Amino acid sequence: MTVADTMPTEVPLARPFPRDVPVPRHVLPARTRMTCVLAVDIGGTKLAAALVDEGGALLRSATRPTPRADVMSALAALVAEVTADGPPPHAVGVGCAGPLDLTTGAVSPVNMPSWRGFPLREELRRLTGLPVVLAGDAQCMALGEHWLGAGQGSTSLLGVVVSTGIGGGLVIGGAPVLGPAGNAGHVGHMSVDPGGERCECGGRGCVERYSSGPNLARWALENGWAPAGERDARALAADAAAGHPVAVAAFERGARALAGMIASAAAAVELDTVVIGGGVSAAGEVLFGPLERALDDVAGLAFVRAVRVRPTTLGVRAGLAGAARLAWRLSGPGAPPPPDPAMAGEGPPPVVGAGPIG
Ligand SMILES: [Zn+2]
Repeated sequence: MTVADTMPTEVPLARPFPRDVPVPRHVLPARTRMTCVLAVDIGGTKLAAALVDEGGALLRSATRPTPRADVMSALAALVAEVTADGPPPHAVGVGCAGPLDLTTGAVSPVNMPSWRGFPLREELRRLTGLPVVLAGDAQCMALGEHWLGAGQGSTSLLGVVVSTGIGGGLVIGGAPVLGPAGNAGHVGHMSVDPGGERCECGGRGCVERYSSGPNLARWALENGWAPAGERDARALAADAAAGHPVAVAAFERGARALAGMIASAAAAVELDTVVIGGGVSAAGEVLFGPLERALDDVAGLAFVRAVRVRPTTLGVRAGLAGAARLAWRLSGPGAPPPPDPAMAGEGPPPVVGAGPIG
């Protein structure tokens, strides 16, 4: 039983053991009695936490909505709920919406206005008394899919979250590539049209401007899509599946931009696999069909054409799985001995090597 097969694709996350009943340790494999890590996934709409063993088994989990203010108090209550009665974790892995700064452990999630330069890594270390390792939420998605999902076995993986915005994470040679300050993988702001539309980031022609959920819907509305009900990407996907020509065109346009980004990223780091998650990926064939065709048109070199594009298999659980994997990389067998920069809460960022996960 792993994160992959015990948690539903929609929140709330499954809770294998009732919250008010002690974990029945006799039913757990021996190794799970000994050790686990605490995984935390922080997003603009929900907070999730889980105790996860080194094989990905989910021992306890819970979620709650992200409050507008005092997020840390809600997070503390969530951690208390998940860790009560469970086996004690020995490290914490946390994925958080960006941007973030691994040199300081601070986060400034765009969609969480109450956190600007918030010292998340230090606050979690203080709360739990444990070593804490931090990464972006999409980086955790990529790591989770590599560990337990659609990216298993990949030696050069890009995970992409297509949602309100577009985020990404790279896992190369089994190791997450986080970048000096933790912002590697921001593929949503790769320009696929240098003479194109201005992006909210200040750049021009970013793939996010063409392919994120709100931008898919925006373009469709500007081009004659007039839905009776909701005017979002989910409704657009339903209309595209029903053959509405503007909705179909919106997804083809968005998919073509994604294909440009994927081909460019594949050329840069010789990707073998791309896993696409996020709410827009639930559109299914109306996204993945045009994406395959566009990639066939855009990609040239044989190694670029060989990249495999797959939908997420972990869904909303991928970030939590990746956060757990981060913690295991920090503290599991083969991990560097403390003091580790990521554990100290200051100094240079954690150096993630290219070696396979131990
Ligand atoms: Zn941009």
